[in-house]
Amino acid sequence: MLTNNNDNTINTITAVATPPGVGAVAIIRISGPKTNSIIKKIFIPKKAKTTKKTPLKSHKMYYGTIIDENHQIIDEVMCVLMNKPHSYTCEDTAEIHCHGGLATVAAVLGTLLENGATLAQPGEFTKRAFLNGRIDLIQAEAVMELISAKNNLARRATLRKLAGGLSSKIKQARQQILLWLANIELSIDYPEHEEEASNLATIQQDCGVLLQTLTNLAATANIGNFIKTGVPTAIIGKPNVGKSSLMNAILQAERAIVTEIPGTTRDTLTENVSVRNIPIQLTDTAGIRQNKVDKVEQLGIDRSLALAESSELVLFVLDISEQLQPEDTAIMHLLQNQDNKKIILLNKADLPPKCEWENFNTSENPENPENSNKSNIFQNTPTIKISAKTGTGLNELYATIEKMFVSENIAIDDDIITKERDKLLLQTAISQLNTAMTEITQGVPEDIISISLRAAYIALGEILGETVADDIVDKIFAEFCVGK
Ligand code: GDP
Repeated sequence: MLTNNNDNTINTITAVATPPGVGAVAIIRISGPKTNSIIKKIFIPKKAKTTKKTPLKSHKMYYGTIIDENHQIIDEVMCVLMNKPHSYTCEDTAEIHCHGGLATVAAVLGTLLENGATLAQPGEFTKRAFLNGRIDLIQAEAVMELISAKNNLARRATLRKLAGGLSSKIKQARQQILLWLANIELSIDYPEHEEEASNLATIQQDCGVLLQTLTNLAATANIGNFIKTGVPTAIIGKPNVGKSSLMNAILQAERAIVTEIPGTTRDTLTENVSVRNIPIQLTDTAGIRQNKVDKVEQLGIDRSLALAESSELVLFVLDISEQLQPEDTAIMHLLQNQDNKKIILLNKADLPPKCEWENFNTSENPENPENSNKSNIFQNTPTIKISAKTGTGLNELYATIEKMFVSENIAIDDDIITKERDKLLLQTAISQLNTAMTEITQGVPEDIISISLRAAYIALGEILGETVADDIVDKIFAEFCVGK
């Protein structure tokens, strides 16, 4: 653990915090015990009287120059000191805002290194904030997630994480388990006080409530997964039903190729779009056709089928201005075996209908076995009449997507699990608590029950980073960028 007490063993780190390349301003960060002495050597404030007795004030921006060992001016800069513990890392830190040219940044950084700073590892500033107890592991990871957030939903979810929403839920759960452990311990050590200790029946009851909370939290991992990249969504259907037109209508931009010749979208095209605040990764796939396809198109078709399989949501497009074709039914059968979410879109509703989906969608016509199959396949699948051309029905499509992904239990504004590691640890805690519940029911000795409770307590602690091995901490922070 890095602390401010053993200053001698801690190095002073520095890194450029802004992206590489030419820019108006670059920010160089410094953190560690030598920060103040290094800044004093290389930074000459202008119009600020500083003496030994009145050094630079903390958290005040100064204008001045950075000089080299020959007292030559390297750059005109703004500099701010942030004395411990009121800084990002809880150590003495400084930021130098210099001009953004490559040579200037290299020269300022070089001067810092010559005066005793060392280059920071990726994520080392945040790692110090974590090791010095300013933030927990959930919040540290949220910093990285916030930097790489690609949409508003991801940004809002990680901001809540950073503010400690998820952390406090996990901390409360741990606190409760700790109390149960203390009570069990008390009744083992002092059986005469058993009355005062909460009995196992109460623990079991409270544990049931906690399990529900943690299970709801674990269920958010599904949202957490797609929040970063968007819900993988495939537009599937035979050629010419209007897949590319639908993609364009959703994107409100002419990205996909729209043509009257079947089979033009030979490969797949993916775009990120927000539908009612839900990030969607929308892929227009090659039309799926049974016969007479050339080799290139076959590759596209194979890819569409694989893509439909790996997608969370499939938008299955049919053209109701035409009779349903064998290809349509063939695709239905393929989709039938996939357990992803599906929406059937009856496109070209602006044209006179030749295919009445309502008839097709019932088993009232026993002479036609395809019709009967259909009714079994898509009985509970939302079906919407749309026109990619006029935009009719698109609002209903968006509302349906929203309903599918923002369930009553999981509001999109809740605390959300976004890390696979956190999800696995949460599942471990849930399974250990379930074991403890069963053990209580079976009348297993209390010291055995406390082993399960302790395992749950430890797993939750690992999410916060309280009981986590050094190598795991190193691995987590290695994924960060330099300067953060
Ligand atoms: P894809 O092969 O499934 O991607 O189909 P396209 O999007 O390329 O559309 C094929 C043809 O159908 C084009 O001429 C489109 O203009 C037309 N089309 C697509 N959607 C509609 C619609 O909702 N109404 C009408 N009238 N025509 C449409």
